[in-house]
Amino acid sequence: MKAVNMSTVTPAPLEHVPTVRGPVSADDLGLTLAHEHLFVLSAEFQSNYPDLWDPEEGVRAAVAQLGRAYEAGVRTIIDMTVLGQGRDLSLVKRVAERTEVNIVIATGVYSVDGLPLFARFRGPDGIAVSEEPLIDLLLRDVTEGVGGSGIRAGVVKFACERVPPDASAHRMAAAVAEVHRRTGVPVLVHSDPFDESGGNGIDLVRILEREGVAPNHVVVGHAGDSASLRYLRELADTGCMLGYDRYGMERLAPDEQRNATLAALVRAGHTRQILLSQDHAVHIDYFTVEQRRHLFPQWSYTHLLERALPRLRAEQDIDESAIDIMLVDNPRRLLTRQGAPAPARTGEMADVRRA
Ligand SMILES: [Zn+2]
Repeated sequence: MKAVNMSTVTPAPLEHVPTVRGPVSADDLGLTLAHEHLFVLSAEFQSNYPDLWDPEEGVRAAVAQLGRAYEAGVRTIIDMTVLGQGRDLSLVKRVAERTEVNIVIATGVYSVDGLPLFARFRGPDGIAVSEEPLIDLLLRDVTEGVGGSGIRAGVVKFACERVPPDASAHRMAAAVAEVHRRTGVPVLVHSDPFDESGGNGIDLVRILEREGVAPNHVVVGHAGDSASLRYLRELADTGCMLGYDRYGMERLAPDEQRNATLAALVRAGHTRQILLSQDHAVHIDYFTVEQRRHLFPQWSYTHLLERALPRLRAEQDIDESAIDIMLVDNPRRLLTRQGAPAPARTGEMADVRRA
C-alpha cells in the first residue's frame, strides 16, 4: 500500500484561467461547455495519409461553428482532446486566433484499452522498476505549457471503460492524482456509463480518492449517459462532479432520458455538481462523414442550448437559475480549481426550483 500525502495544501482559487489565447479572468469565462473537442485525430494515420483530411478546411469549419456557438451565448469551451486523441496545439491555436470563444485545453492520456505502449514498459510495472514517466509530462503541460508554447492545460484526464477498473486504470489514476496533488488541477475521467450496474464511475472516484484526490475535484465524464437513476444518485452522493456531456448523441442515450435523470438530481440537491456539454468534435476520424451524419445527426456546439435545454425547462420544470449554475458557476469552479461544493440536503434547494 502506497502512502499518499493527504496534507497537501489546497491552493487558493485561480483568479485567471489559462486559455489558448492567454489567461482569462474567472469572471469573464461566462457560459462554458465543459467537455467538447475541436479535432479528434488518429495522428499516425493523418500524418501518413494526408489525403484523409484537410486541416485548412477543418480550421475554417471550427471557426464557423464556434462563431455560431458564440451567437448562441457560448463564451468558453474546454477542449478535452488529450494524448491518444491526436491533440494538435498548432491547429487549436489557429482556431483560437480567429474566434471570440475562449478555448481551455486539457492534458492526460486517452487509452480505453490498456496503457499506451509509450508508457507500458518504461513505467513502474515495466521491465525495470522505474518512476512513472507520465507524471512529469502531464505536469509540464499544467505548469509550463504544452511543447514550449506557454499554453497551459486546465484539466487532467484519463480514460477507463473496464468494469471494474483494471491495473492500467489504477496506474493512470495514480499518475493524474499526482498531477492534481501538485497543482490542484481538476481530474476528468472518461468512464463507462453503460454497465448493467449503472457504470464504473463510483469505483473510479474511490480509486482516485485513495490516491489523494478528493471526490469534489473529480469529474466523472459521460455519467449522464447512464439510464440508472440509482447509480447516478449514488455517484452524486460521493460528492464528485457528473458530466452530462453528450447531449445530442442520441444513439448513446436520448436527450429525454438525460433530462429526466438530470432533473431528478437537481431536485435531490446535486445542481452544483453537474456539468453540461455535448462532446462534439468539428472533425473526428473515428467515423466517415457519412457514418457520422447517420449516427449523430444532432451533434453540434449549439444542440444543448437550442434543443435540449428548452425541453428541460418545459418538460422537467427546471428553472433558469439552476441552468445558469450548471452552465456558468460549475465550470468556473472547476477551472478555478475550487471543486464542487458538498451536495445540498433536500429542502435547501428551493433557490433552484420553480415555486
Ligand atoms: Zn470527449
